[in-house]
Amino acid sequence: MQTLRITINMKQALKQDTLCIHAGKAKGQHQGALTTPLYQTSTFVFDNAEQGAARFAGEQEGYIYTRLGNPTTRELELKMAALEKMEDAAATATGMAAVSGAVMSFLQAGDHVIVSKAIYGCSFALFNHQLTKFGIEVSFVDMNNPDQLQQALKTNTKLLFAETPINPNLVVLDLAMIADFCQQNNILSVIDNTFLSPVLQTPADFGIDIIVHSATKFLNGHGDVVAGIIVSNQENINTIKSTILKDIGGTISPHDAWLILRGLKTLPIRMERHCRSAQKIAEYLEAHSLVKNVFYPGLSKHQGFQYLGKQMRGAGGVIGFEIDGSLEEGKAFINAMSLFSIAVSLGDAESLIQHPASMTHSPYTQEERLSAGISDALIRVSIGLEDVQDLIDDLEQAFGQIEARRSATVTNIENWG
Ligand SMILES: *Cc1c(COP(=O)(O)O)cnc(C)c1O
Repeated sequence: MQTLRITINMKQALKQDTLCIHAGKAKGQHQGALTTPLYQTSTFVFDNAEQGAARFAGEQEGYIYTRLGNPTTRELELKMAALEKMEDAAATATGMAAVSGAVMSFLQAGDHVIVSKAIYGCSFALFNHQLTKFGIEVSFVDMNNPDQLQQALKTNTKLLFAETPINPNLVVLDLAMIADFCQQNNILSVIDNTFLSPVLQTPADFGIDIIVHSATKFLNGHGDVVAGIIVSNQENINTIKSTILKDIGGTISPHDAWLILRGLKTLPIRMERHCRSAQKIAEYLEAHSLVKNVFYPGLSKHQGFQYLGKQMRGAGGVIGFEIDGSLEEGKAFINAMSLFSIAVSLGDAESLIQHPASMTHSPYTQEERLSAGISDALIRVSIGLEDVQDLIDDLEQAFGQIEARRSATVTNIENWG
């Protein structure tokens, strides 16, 4: 396919903050524009019939048609490859197009896949409801349990899929253990790195083969795009681009790629703030009498804490917690928020709050949800870039409303007495 190479001289030693801004830029092109222009075009004109034929034959580099490649999209792909320390990338229309593109490009009827039993709701639905229709066998396992991994192994196992930290209880998986297991058994490993972004975690460091992202979240970071990206070695990306992505057609819009390029310039400083504010809020929640459990890898009690500084360079911007009370009180709490918007998604400038059991994880049955460690009482917040004290004040007033409801109920009962 079309692979215009990086023309800027990227020295290996450049740090991520610099790569976010400079990697992937086609220097000397685009009339000298500082920012890569938006190539809002469906197709590309050939000089003559011979050139068109040479491009289709892969004998000449250059663009053909935007479903197959586009200069704006190409900068995003090369930048993400540099950030994830891999060879190449394929940008997609949504995060789910990245997940489905990454796995379907390597699977056929009769193959078996091992999947983490706790994953993003639509990834779960893809494996459990869609791929099974095409004769692909799926085993859902607890990825932190090496015995379960071994037991799931079959002669036709081709691929493993997981995410870490796991949405929404932030359980952290051991990427080195997973990569070793996959290498020993000749299985392709695919990791969804949406929750941390390459700024906080680079799965390639541990030997993971393919990384997928919902670029909708932290990568873009501004709540105005749905998109995804697949990152891997050259051979895998060539396969993905020349098969599922080309023929099913989940290509990104160049306009969305352009917006993500703008978002990526500030990714490191945004991640720093997301982590700092989420840490303060997780500690605030942990100390609150109305909170039963807090799930955040930055808290020393959390299972993921041991991976901080080793696998993860930060705990991220998402927190799960359970109110010590009824489901009704949980709903009343969410409704009482004023700065936090009630919305799914994460990684935006705006703080968001949602209820996984009835929203993001509704593709699971209640039984599947409980087995994945997602209780009905769980609330998920994505901490935005607002002033952290304003966010804490908002949580405080919402807890105040729950306390007021409780004392109102008590007063009513006393009055009846
Ligand atoms: C949102 C999300 C997805 C799906 O991405 P879309 O852009 O909504 O298609 C996949 N994995 C994780 C972890 C997500 O948070």
